[in-house]
Amino acid sequence: TAKSGGKGRAQIFHAQLDTDYHYRQRLKADLKQAVQARSLSLAFQPLLDITTRRVVSCEALARWEHPELGEISPAVFIPLAEEMGIICDITEWVLETAARECAGWSGGVGVAVNISARDFRTLDLAGAVDEVLACSGLKPERLEIEVTETAVIEEQHMARNVLEALSERGIGIALDDFGTGYSSLSYLNALPFTKLKIDRSFLTDIDENPRALRLLASVARVGRDLDLTVVAEGVETEAQLAHLLNHTDVQQVQGYLFSRPLPASDAAELIRRMNRAAVRPNLQVAGVV
Ligand code: C2E
Ligand code: MG
Ligand code: MG
Ligand code: MG
Repeated sequence: TAKSGGKGRAQIFHAQLDTDYHYRQRLKADLKQAVQARSLSLAFQPLLDITTRRVVSCEALARWEHPELGEISPAVFIPLAEEMGIICDITEWVLETAARECAGWSGGVGVAVNISARDFRTLDLAGAVDEVLACSGLKPERLEIEVTETAVIEEQHMARNVLEALSERGIGIALDDFGTGYSSLSYLNALPFTKLKIDRSFLTDIDENPRALRLLASVARVGRDLDLTVVAEGVETEAQLAHLLNHTDVQQVQGYLFSRPLPASDAAELIRRMNRAAVRPNLQVAGVV
């Protein structure tokens, strides 16, 4: 019975793989069409200065509303696009669209665009950025590129050239999801980063676990010591915010506590509203502690 049980499991496993295979094939075909038809959209999520609570920039996040399957997560379709070799088309479109939106935002609020490892090889990123800046009239200081540790390691040589070219233009370069990849610290100095985005996994239980808080504080300290702007991603509660403010060197925060990623028009409105409010959050946060 052990044998037949094993076989049964194997069959179920194969059936699952088969379904996954066909599902993926379908998604790939539909994704290719969606990219060609330019039917992806962008959502924008604000990053706030932790002390003033003003919006300093927004991260552009790709969205795909599938006509039959509904919203497909970028965690699913971005890797598919990488596999298919069409990520560079998406990146170019995101850059263009994000820069156009950003040019309309008040108060010099910036925009951040995510790039993939593959973009380093298949896209003339510096050329694309030059074009986008020229077309939108955006100052380079308002554009930021987000790249993960994994992407940087996978494409070390190309990454260095491209990131240095961007850096010379005055474009900010953020190391995204810090702490989840190879977490080798040496390339923090080897590449021209301006910002460190600490992955949200580091925030998970900082309000209950003192060691978790100390680890996060140490990571933030490393970033500050290297003169990087330190960001905490995935801030969901006032308690987390209070701990970040009182016990770490984190300078900017991003997360559902402030806003989910929003459609462009809502993001523009949010920026106006939040930056007009001119809050003094310290008083507010002090009440939470
Ligand atoms: P990321 O660049 O680290 O983006 C942050 C992700 O965290 C976003 O997920 C955002 O919605 C989510 N998030 C923000 N605040 C919170 C929070 O408080 N709690 C929780 N649980 N999540 C929060 P999203 O939009 O699903 O994107 C997932 C990933 O897909 C991104 O991670 C990025 O790696 C990738 N991605 C999205 N858009 C693009 C794109 O245009 N190009 C590339 N290459 N990758 C993209
Ligand atoms: Mg990002
Ligand atoms: Mg991130
Ligand atoms: Mg992340």
